[in-house]
Amino acid sequence: MIKLFKNVRLKGQKELKMILVEDGTIKKIAEQIAVPDEAEVIDLQGYLTVPPYVDPHIHLDYVFTARKEGALNGTGTLFEGIQRWSETKSDLTVEEVKQRAIAGIKKEMTAGVQYIRTHADVTDPNFTSLKALLELREELKDIVTIQVVAFPQEGMYAYKGGDELVEEALKMGADCVGAIPHYEFAREFGEKSIHKTVDLAVKYDKLIDVHCDETDDDQSRFLELLSALSYMEGIGSKTTASHTCSFGSANNSYAFRLMKLLKKAEINFISCPTENIYLQGRQDTYPKRRGLTRVKELNDAKINVCFAQDSMSDPWYPLGNGNMMMILDHGIHICQMMSFEEIDNALDLITVNGAKTMHIQDEYGLEEGKPANFIVLEAKSEFDAICERAGILASVRNGEYLLKKEPQVIQTDIEILK
Ligand SMILES: [Zn+2]
Repeated sequence: MIKLFKNVRLKGQKELKMILVEDGTIKKIAEQIAVPDEAEVIDLQGYLTVPPYVDPHIHLDYVFTARKEGALNGTGTLFEGIQRWSETKSDLTVEEVKQRAIAGIKKEMTAGVQYIRTHADVTDPNFTSLKALLELREELKDIVTIQVVAFPQEGMYAYKGGDELVEEALKMGADCVGAIPHYEFAREFGEKSIHKTVDLAVKYDKLIDVHCDETDDDQSRFLELLSALSYMEGIGSKTTASHTCSFGSANNSYAFRLMKLLKKAEINFISCPTENIYLQGRQDTYPKRRGLTRVKELNDAKINVCFAQDSMSDPWYPLGNGNMMMILDHGIHICQMMSFEEIDNALDLITVNGAKTMHIQDEYGLEEGKPANFIVLEAKSEFDAICERAGILASVRNGEYLLKKEPQVIQTDIEILK
């Protein structure tokens, strides 16, 4: 199958391009390409075309459980969320988790996501969530790329046999090692969990994604240990620190020193702007902290940082719809990233930076030799895409449409509104 996409507007490029796709792979990108005899020609009409959205941090096993009996989180804190989940998770079945996860994936995909990293709670001797999400990873691989994190929601050492469950989950096929050091009963247990995480990643050759310092406590400093150990093992680029909220509360002298290590270690950061602005600052009166990590400073230092959804209607967060453009909009506001240069590059935070975090650079991006995976936005410039919070007009995978949408049409008789 040969397809020629024409009038393609690529990010950062003035001239419209043509993209030649053969058997699902990008063969050529150029201003002019002679139309091969048997090619199907598709006109993208100058709309902005970018690699698919990446959601590198979501809990697909939790989605749409917020209204379950006993799941209501009255305080809106992270810790009550964990407690509510723990108290209501015993009746899960693989089939039920799969059905909810599919509903979540559908929401993400219809908004342009094709790459998802999901956590699976493995503090469960039956591995119900893990089994469900590993099955979906395989069943849906042609339409969406899924990575699964072995995530000990209730702790590696605060839950009986937690560390062994994480190891077993890796043997069962999880892609990443997870941890939650700030939730362990003591700082030493948290540190032990970080050591264990890095050891397991080396032993099984897995990626790392730690829920790290998701607290306003400026003394929560597991990020330091995670990056130091990853650096020493030479696996920094395969390591991700999610949340790192406390880094937003740390003093500047400490942050300045740590920033050097983070840069050297080349670890990745995920910030969840809608979640953490909602969950954090709950023990503050006023002034209330924003609860986010130093996204702008990390980005300025060329340390890889991206945004993620985290939750869809679960005990931690009542809303969430998988629309990465909305997450991005919140993120650039909360993190004060709105110079015109930052706006023009904002899409990186939900595309290429997320792909780098997932360590999938080899297969991701609009480049010759890579799979023809991309989305088309209803905007004709980077600025308009962000300013208008543009939706998608199409999601294409291996050169085939996953879905198409019509541009918005306004019905009106009023001249100036036409
Ligand atoms: Zn999370």
